[in-house]
Amino acid sequence: MLKIKAVVVVIFMCLLQNICGADSPQQVVKKVYLKKEKNRYFLCIDFDEKASFVPRIHTLPNGLKALLSFDREVATPKAKKISHGIIRGYFFEKFSPASLMFIAAFNEKVTFISKKYTRHSIKIGFELNRKRAVVIDAGHGGMDPGTIGVTGNSEKNITLIAAIELRNALLKSGKYKVILTRDRDVFVSLDERNAKINSSHGEFLISLHTDSNNDKNLRGMSVYTLPNLDYIKKTAGDTPPDAAAFYKILSKSRRFANYLVGYIPNVCKIKNRPCRNGELKILKANMPAVLIELGCISNKIDNELLHSQHFRTKTISAIKYALDNFFEKEK
Ligand SMILES: [Zn+2]
Repeated sequence: MLKIKAVVVVIFMCLLQNICGADSPQQVVKKVYLKKEKNRYFLCIDFDEKASFVPRIHTLPNGLKALLSFDREVATPKAKKISHGIIRGYFFEKFSPASLMFIAAFNEKVTFISKKYTRHSIKIGFELNRKRAVVIDAGHGGMDPGTIGVTGNSEKNITLIAAIELRNALLKSGKYKVILTRDRDVFVSLDERNAKINSSHGEFLISLHTDSNNDKNLRGMSVYTLPNLDYIKKTAGDTPPDAAAFYKILSKSRRFANYLVGYIPNVCKIKNRPCRNGELKILKANMPAVLIELGCISNKIDNELLHSQHFRTKTISAIKYALDNFFEKEK
């Protein structure tokens, strides 16, 4: 009789545990994984079909945080390793009985492109931040001194110093890789420059020059882009230009020029109508391209400024901001 009583008590206890178990914390996360589609990655979380949740997702430069609020008490899932170099790791943390904090850290900075969720899954898309390739062309060089300044100085030296300082500033930002058409006092013909630029896989060309004028009072910076397709047609040789592709590139070049003249007034004087058109062979590139006249070396003040490290640093920062803005909007 005692034995029967004991069995009944055990069965009763088991039943009680099962009934109470219905309200015990539920395991809601089925799987966390990374998917790759072309150049894009998606960090995905699949949930149990019974789980109903509302996510609040905050993206960080190299990771993300998501607060997941459920309609019932949930258990903290154990993180499993994702074997991919981009993901440093992730974990879940109990935020309240019915909410979980999901935290993921990446090994590098990324750009988030989408956040989608359904009743049973979250899919967060991102791209790896890739470095943009900028070609910097220091005008003139070697036997070609360019224009001569009021103190007998040569344009070729200013353009080389500015090109190297711009390269250093862009590299330091970590956002760019840089190709120089020359990195020392050497003559490079326009044909050689064009060939180097067009085979560089660059995404933007900045050609640096300084102006000179008979009017010694004339000062200021200006930015040149190509005028129109006629110039390309005139100089295309046997290859007919692709008008649509040309104007697409030209409009990008002009967009950059506008950004730049927006930043420059805080730094130095700009010419009237600073965005100008010029039939300049160097700008015939397979990428957006501008030629910047950094100032007039025929003017005493501009010439002094161009030899001042302080002024050049400010000018170069303005060019960098314009590039940052350009590539940010190009995404
Ligand atoms: Zn020049």
